Amino acid sequence: MLSSYLKLTRKSFSTKSALNKSKFIIQEQEILEKFVKGSGPGGQKINKCRHCVQLTHIPTSIHVSCQDTRSLTSNRKIARKLLTEKVEHLKNGIESKIGRRISKVQKKKARNKRRSKLQSNPDSETTTTAANSKKFKINDAPRIRVIGGGITAAAFVDRILELLPKADILVSEMGRGMGGRCATRDTGAMKFSHGCPAFDIRTSEFQTIVDDWTKEKIVQVWHPLRLGIINTETMKSTDIPSDQHTLYQLSSRFCKHLMTDNVPFQSNTLINQMEYSNEHSKWKFNDESIEHDWLIVTSPVVAHSKRWSNSFGKDTDAPLCKALANNMDHVSYHQKSMLNDINEIESKSIISLLTVFKGETAQRLAKSFPYEMAHVQNSSVIEKIVCEGMTSDGLFPLVVHSTETYSNDIGRIRGSGSSISKVGKEGVPSSNQKQQQVEDTMREELLKCLTLWIDEVNDIDFSDEKEIDYSAVHSWSAAFPIKNESGMLKDHLSLHIPSSNLILCGDYFGKDVGRVETAILSGRDAAETILRN
Ligand SMILES: Cc1cc2nc3c(=O)[nH]c(=O)nc-3n(C[C@H](O)[C@H](O)[C@H](O)COP(=O)(O)OP(=O)(O)OC[C@H]3O[C@@H](n4cnc5c(N)ncnc54)[C@H](O)[C@@H]3O)c2cc1C
Repeated sequence: MLSSYLKLTRKSFSTKSALNKSKFIIQEQEILEKFVKGSGPGGQKINKCRHCVQLTHIPTSIHVSCQDTRSLTSNRKIARKLLTEKVEHLKNGIESKIGRRISKVQKKKARNKRRSKLQSNPDSETTTTAANSKKFKINDAPRIRVIGGGITAAAFVDRILELLPKADILVSEMGRGMGGRCATRDTGAMKFSHGCPAFDIRTSEFQTIVDDWTKEKIVQVWHPLRLGIINTETMKSTDIPSDQHTLYQLSSRFCKHLMTDNVPFQSNTLINQMEYSNEHSKWKFNDESIEHDWLIVTSPVVAHSKRWSNSFGKDTDAPLCKALANNMDHVSYHQKSMLNDINEIESKSIISLLTVFKGETAQRLAKSFPYEMAHVQNSSVIEKIVCEGMTSDGLFPLVVHSTETYSNDIGRIRGSGSSISKVGKEGVPSSNQKQQQVEDTMREELLKCLTLWIDEVNDIDFSDEKEIDYSAVHSWSAAFPIKNESGMLKDHLSLHIPSSNLILCGDYFGKDVGRVETAILSGRDAAETILRN
């Protein structure tokens, strides 16, 4: 669909001068429009009325939303303007209005960064500039396709635009928005993390990066009231008591910021076909006509045949394995071994229950919650409860993580609303009934914990709209990769296959897998690899 759309619009924008003169227009019949309740600051009207306009451009899956004003008419107008700009950017890249704006901003960002580095280390300038002018061609504008819209992708985009401001990037994500496992769930009344809520810092390299982001106010230190570890043996590397490490809060917004709002982002888009032409040195995807010079893969699933067929219900090789099959003569022994390791990555699954209490129940819980002392005891279902405390709107959200054993016993749960059932389409069984059973079991276990800690909570009714604002489960079928002690992935931050202009990156590389720090360093490493080649 995307390919035919691009072909259709190409005619009227064939020359640069025509492009500058003509106004890019999207037809109304190509737009899917929804009106939803707004969220965040802005008063009651924003939160109670359906004045937030969500538009999806059907041929490209580009999505925008607008709740800037209290007038529905103005929001519809602004949303259409945003959507037109984004679609134009997808089609015309750096020649578009957004493209030119990004180039300007990124150049300024790179200049400021170089200046601040120079101030802190005056000797570095001569060596870095000399090395860069040989290695990096700053004016290059390679077309780069990124698969996945999580934190690895965001870190990649942030770094590549800093180093190659003209890079022309398109990010495709099968889920409904940015963030991947760090995404925030928007319940209407509030947004909160149902996957990874926060990250910590373990290396000096990452400390320097986060210090810069803190100065730019992109991230901030977080003091959650997190609690509930079943016992210390099951504590994973990601469970860091806040009194031992500084934690930084994560959200989809953070990923959005790194990606810059203007990089084209396709949500609800599963990349399930890819092909590399040796003759033209270009990648092609799904049925699109647009070609890309580089492919950046931030999720192992496209290179993992077992996970691919499990998730998408087809008994076939993963698409990246298929794409590389004809090109294996050009892949070194070392690279083949790493691909093999990726194809065998195991991962832990987790189910999270998100519940937002409101009204008197929220008040009661917030008042008596044994924040720092609470421990989940003797539960085979619940491992951890993340508690942020009461919000300024009087809501009390809890995120409950299941034990790995419970998640494995239950098997895969996919309600009809899950990304995989939506984009996997045929062959993916979904079961709302099974999802309901899991929801009920996890709520029961949560209630048992709450009853132990607080008097008179055993009467909470999860179906009562006066007490519960939102309650649902989310299944993370690959929450954390399992450390591969024997393989080669632990010695690298990414895998570059030069013969196909391909880089694989993500939190499954390096020594400390399954963590945000690893994902960010890996994404940045991929960007730096492009510049070295
Ligand atoms: C419940 C939970 C709690 C966690 N807690 C912590 C914590 O406290 N501290 C910490 O450091 N880390 C934590 N983590 C781990 C952290 O979330 C991950 O390390 C990090 O988010 C990995 O980011 P990523 O971009 O590499 O991968 P992902 O976030 O998985 O992004 C990859 C994206 O690729 C998309 N995708 C895959 N295949 C395709 C395709 N074919 N086409 C299009 N899109 C595709 C996926 O939908 C996904 O969004 C937690 C994770 C979970 C699930």
